[in-house]
Amino acid sequence: MTVIEKILEKVPRDAMISSTSYEGANIILYTKNKRFYLHGSDIIRRLVEDFKKRIELRSDSSIRMDAEATQAFVKKTMPTDADITNIFLEPARGLVVIESKNPGRAIGKDGENLKKIKEKTYWTAFVRRESTIQSKITQNIRKVLYEDNVERRKFLHKVGERIYEHKKSNGKEMWARLSMFGGARQVGRSCFLLQTPESKILLDCGVNVAASNSDQYPILTAPEFDIQDIDAVIISHAHLDHAGFLPYLFKYGYNGPIYCTAPTRDVMALLQLDYIKVSHAQAKNAIYAAEDIKQVVKNTITLDYNEVTDITPDVRITLHNAGHILGSSMVHLHIGDGWHNVLYTGDFKTKATKLLNPGHWTFPRVETLITESTYGAPDDIMQPREKSEKELVKLIKETIKRKGKVLIPVLGVGRAQEVMVILEEAFRKEKIKVPIYVDGMVWDVTAIHNAYPSFLSKEIVQQIFYNNKDPFTSGAFNEVAGYKERQAIINGGPCVVLATSGMLVGGPSVEYLKNFCDDKKNRMVFVCYQGVGSLGNTLQRGERKFIEGGITYEVNLDIHTLAGLSGHSDRNEFMDYVRKISPMPRKIIVVHGENSKCLSMASGYHKEFHVETTAPRNLDAIRLR
Ligand SMILES: [Zn+2]
Repeated sequence: MTVIEKILEKVPRDAMISSTSYEGANIILYTKNKRFYLHGSDIIRRLVEDFKKRIELRSDSSIRMDAEATQAFVKKTMPTDADITNIFLEPARGLVVIESKNPGRAIGKDGENLKKIKEKTYWTAFVRRESTIQSKITQNIRKVLYEDNVERRKFLHKVGERIYEHKKSNGKEMWARLSMFGGARQVGRSCFLLQTPESKILLDCGVNVAASNSDQYPILTAPEFDIQDIDAVIISHAHLDHAGFLPYLFKYGYNGPIYCTAPTRDVMALLQLDYIKVSHAQAKNAIYAAEDIKQVVKNTITLDYNEVTDITPDVRITLHNAGHILGSSMVHLHIGDGWHNVLYTGDFKTKATKLLNPGHWTFPRVETLITESTYGAPDDIMQPREKSEKELVKLIKETIKRKGKVLIPVLGVGRAQEVMVILEEAFRKEKIKVPIYVDGMVWDVTAIHNAYPSFLSKEIVQQIFYNNKDPFTSGAFNEVAGYKERQAIINGGPCVVLATSGMLVGGPSVEYLKNFCDDKKNRMVFVCYQGVGSLGNTLQRGERKFIEGGITYEVNLDIHTLAGLSGHSDRNEFMDYVRKISPMPRKIIVVHGENSKCLSMASGYHKEFHVETTAPRNLDAIRLR
């Protein structure tokens, strides 16, 4: 008997359940009984307690008000100051999505507006916060989500059927192993396969943007990888070295679910689109098309931090804040009803930054820790963040004084917004009095930050909601819309430019560098990691020449690196994290670092904590228990 059949046995006969459906691990009951739809919540609550599953009641289409009249009623019900930007109806699931710039007002006191809609139209309404910053791309992502709701319902049902499938192994024989397809003893193309008797799950699926040949992509020719067998993909965060290869899976036949946070879904779609654009600009063939990215968006099931969900018959996951970039998560995997627990940290920061709260460290159980080591060398000790913030402002002031321009290459997401918050404060306090330009897709990413304030630091939330001083829309920043404006900046006076890409691998940052590099009055400040093989890394290591498009450029501008603004932990933070993580893991697998850093962290952990540690190489497979 399926779990749905068991639940239906407990539902009163007059509830008139006309159809049922899975939405991933959630179970949806559709009713034809208007009274039960409005007043059945106590019965549903009891079922949730009995079955320990999320169960939701929706209306059968036959009792709902027609779509047009519902639109009109919702519009009429919403107060003007709710600032409604869109109302989407999903007839296949009986849902009304209301996008609002002021969700509190849209929902109303104790949810009274949503209740009104439910009672009058028999649709289930919910409110989604819309960014106060205009961004076409993010609007398009939202549209893709509601475009084909019949397909979406079918897809979510199929995912649920897989989750609730009978266990092949009857739970008798348990094992778990992890294969490294990329990101082991290197930074870039993170991709790991977790296998159990019931599951094949990919953790991240990235590219290595700094590499030049086939080393850019995860090694999916490994014998244990078969695209048809993958049950689920979990994405820790949106950076291309963790999610840049994902659309390629869809191009080659994957059609299963992707789990991540909502901001990760939005930001990664943007970064993947930009990756195509940059490939074209470098006259390279893009490895996938916009259509594939659309499929990624459609197949994503978003989770909030701390939300527990089954993803296969023997694996349950929970995402926790990683403090690295907007929406970044640590992935907790609960295998075989608690037989083994794994924490995959992704990239993480243990200290609070201006933008984000510190990474999570308490878990019910963790036996195996899989963790990054980007800044894991013994001498990777960052100066305190406050000091770096002051230094950044000082470097800018010096450059302005000598009538130069400052270029800050940024990753688009993460450091860009961190730097924006710092610069906004300096601008507001009149420490910086020149224009600050933002070029590349930084602006679209910033719009996504604005749409998900609950993922930002307490301080920013305070600023946005209580002081009405959103740092991103304060007027300190000028968006660079195109070629003409870029030219004007290049020919103009002292200024600060934030531009992608962060490692000077294509994008407007390279255009600015070509024009700024000759003049020693100018300055470039690195605030993010420079991958081996990238132009950024070469210049950081002291090279004072580079070739772009067959032209050799002399580099006379001075170059600074501010490591203290990193979204990664440094050596001390890594050690502190394992000191304070609760409970203490028995095994630590170190990945996502250059060769020597992975090895150094593995031996550092072993010496201090006397636990089993290992720094596997790509194509290695490790038995977890
Ligand atoms: Zn990252």
